[in-house]
Amino acid sequence: MTSALAAPRVLRLHTIALGCQMSAADGAEMSAPFERRGFAQAAGPEDADAILISTCTVRQHAEDRALSLIGSLRPWKEADPNRLLVVGGCAAERLGAWLRARFPYVDLVVGAKSISEFPALVEQALRARFDGQAEERDALPPDSPRFLETGSPATAFVTIMRGCNYSCSYCIVPAVRGRELYRPAEEILSEVRAKISAGARELTLLGQTVNSYASTFEGRPVRFDGLLRLVDAVPNLLRLRFMSPHPHYAGDDMLSALAQCRTACELLHMPAQSGSDRVLKAMRRNYTRASFLARIEAARRKVPGVVFSTDIIVGFPTETEEDFQSTLSLLREMGPVSAYCFKYSPREGTESASLPDDVPQGVKEDRLRRLNELVDAMTQEALRARVGRDVEVLAEQRDFGRTRDGFKVRWDRPVEPGTLQRVRVASATRRTLMGEIP
Ligand code: SAH
Ligand code: SF4
Repeated sequence: MTSALAAPRVLRLHTIALGCQMSAADGAEMSAPFERRGFAQAAGPEDADAILISTCTVRQHAEDRALSLIGSLRPWKEADPNRLLVVGGCAAERLGAWLRARFPYVDLVVGAKSISEFPALVEQALRARFDGQAEERDALPPDSPRFLETGSPATAFVTIMRGCNYSCSYCIVPAVRGRELYRPAEEILSEVRAKISAGARELTLLGQTVNSYASTFEGRPVRFDGLLRLVDAVPNLLRLRFMSPHPHYAGDDMLSALAQCRTACELLHMPAQSGSDRVLKAMRRNYTRASFLARIEAARRKVPGVVFSTDIIVGFPTETEEDFQSTLSLLREMGPVSAYCFKYSPREGTESASLPDDVPQGVKEDRLRRLNELVDAMTQEALRARVGRDVEVLAEQRDFGRTRDGFKVRWDRPVEPGTLQRVRVASATRRTLMGEIP
């Protein structure tokens, strides 16, 4: 008898997502066709039969990381040509043909715009490679974890829209992800329910300008505030977040929904990019310093306890020391608890790439350092203000979680992931609150 020989071997997939949360969500979406075919998650490249990379291209540095990762996987692929190497996402979109020529050992390159075709393309590649060898479709072994885009079973992402209709002059996203496409609310809600049934208690709605969402629910138009209310009403959801809102769409409707929804968390990411009107105009951000700060004030008035985070670019072409000072003063007025700060990186084909990248590297670095110093001081102040207080944490791991307003917390005794826990904050490190369970 040959039955022992024919017993299926569990095939394994290793998923690597570089870059932002959208890339992580894409990584999960692209892992799904493998998982449906019975692939389990591998512990690392060595025991993987397939590796999937979700790439980022928003800055040159991100793209360079993707390329060096693909380069470093050549020995892995050559050790067993039956292995499958798949590259998806934004860098795959931008560099498609070049990537295939530069790394001929990559089996499949699928750009971000073609993600809807991904399952069929992967199916084809898998059929050619693995059929008859092992896998049973829909037969994921019960003990094998699926790819967790957030790293915790208690939290999950839900993509509500793809693409971006803006044309910020520095940004490559519209070119690699296309124009906005919104998912109907019914479809979003069914994914929300499925993720909650699978154990998620906190969901983050994702989109490049997530709050420009406009679609339908049961035949009627629904905008972002309406979607927040629909998701908020789903049983067993504890917390709702979203990323990244655009300040232009952060109107009173959205702020009222934030204030009224039980699950909506009090951390609002409002990407400013710059505090100088001249630079904001050159960036084509569609708001001024004053209108941006007016939205921040409105949020403070309407949403009790709200805190902010932001994104800033330093060294945009022609940025002067005075422009940079305006960015620092904007941050002081806004008072975010954290900020993601980047050096301007010219991206081929964007409007600003045609301008001379005229802020010297050393000046960019110096501005980034000064900016980070200010941000670190503001983060420290917010952390210190919480020492001695009790905070409510959603456990993402047994000893790690976050507050509603987004602070990381560690504590001393194991807690079941997915549960809410009151923690007394005893001290703070550079970025994390350290607590005890009272
Ligand atoms: N859609 C989001 C941002 C997506 S990109 C928004 O509008 O806020 C994430 C962040 O990367 C941006 O907010 C910006 O701060 C930064 N970024 C984008 N393009 C960049 C570039 N060419 N150079 C440096 N930083 C950039
Ligand atoms: Fe890029 Fe601007 Fe669109 Fe954000 S809003 S993805 S920064 S073009």
